[in-house]
Amino acid sequence: MTPFHSVSSIDLGSGRSRRVVPIATMASGFELALTIHVIQGQRPGPTVGVSAMVHGDELDGFLIARELQRTLDTASLKGSVWILGVANPLAMEGNSRNTPIDMLDMNRLFPGAPDGWLSEQQANAMAHEFIDRIEYLIDIHAGGTFPWVDYCYVVNDDGLSRAFLPALLYKPAAGYPGTTATYAEQRGVRCMVVEIGGGYREQDRHVAAGVRGVLNQLRYAGALDGEVERRAGQVLMHEMKVMRPRHGGICLPRRMLAPGEVLPAATPLADIVNPYTLDVLETMVTPYEQNIVVLCRNYATRIHPGDYGFMIGNAATATICPD
Ligand SMILES: [Zn+2]
Repeated sequence: MTPFHSVSSIDLGSGRSRRVVPIATMASGFELALTIHVIQGQRPGPTVGVSAMVHGDELDGFLIARELQRTLDTASLKGSVWILGVANPLAMEGNSRNTPIDMLDMNRLFPGAPDGWLSEQQANAMAHEFIDRIEYLIDIHAGGTFPWVDYCYVVNDDGLSRAFLPALLYKPAAGYPGTTATYAEQRGVRCMVVEIGGGYREQDRHVAAGVRGVLNQLRYAGALDGEVERRAGQVLMHEMKVMRPRHGGICLPRRMLAPGEVLPAATPLADIVNPYTLDVLETMVTPYEQNIVVLCRNYATRIHPGDYGFMIGNAATATICPD
């Protein structure tokens, strides 16, 4: 076997460099690689990783990562920030959640395998050349092409999640196996997951909120000086339902919603219509007595059976974070 190129680093000057991590040679002959921007501060401190586009249709995280790469000031930075703006290049190219070559969800496969499916090879490269080399991980996701979302997961550091300044937080009883966060946690990396944006909505606002949130997390991690900003009244959800329809077709929302909105029991959210007979096949309704909108669809969209339709938190078991 032809040996792989090793990781290369390109010095861009002024404390900025770019690490290129080879993954595989595609059938086309193109070299598949991860590109990590490293911003090195002028004083010692932690290594903080920011990743985006583990799912290839979640663009908002890339926009936040790009803005951070462009604007972080090395003079005030302590330690370094590693930015992986496109963690799944083939999925990004295909505007697809999963990797088009093998149709696997990379974010269920960590730490992957160097001799596994291509998605496992990608996960393996990210695990060992990115997550193993950082002390904090901020992994940014979004709602994808159609849904719109706005909350953060709490994984193993409540303060790190709160410091992104979201209105909504979610701490599941057990995370999905094989995610970036699950692997990071196993490795002792302090980590959290951001879910912001999607549906091509309000991207400027999400980028501004994302940059402000990550800068605050850098203060929390000790990578920037200054007091950590706090947000009062943050809601911590413990129970959330991903509402996946049994029927695909055209999803017609009953009305516009926004993440954080509270809805009463049995509120109709959307009708799913057969595109040929025009029959309503299914009406999605809120599952709890009091419901917190976490992920929503605000426009008529194509929906598959099993897709992310809506995500709804249980307001009865949610708590307000202490000030
Ligand atoms: Zn995602």
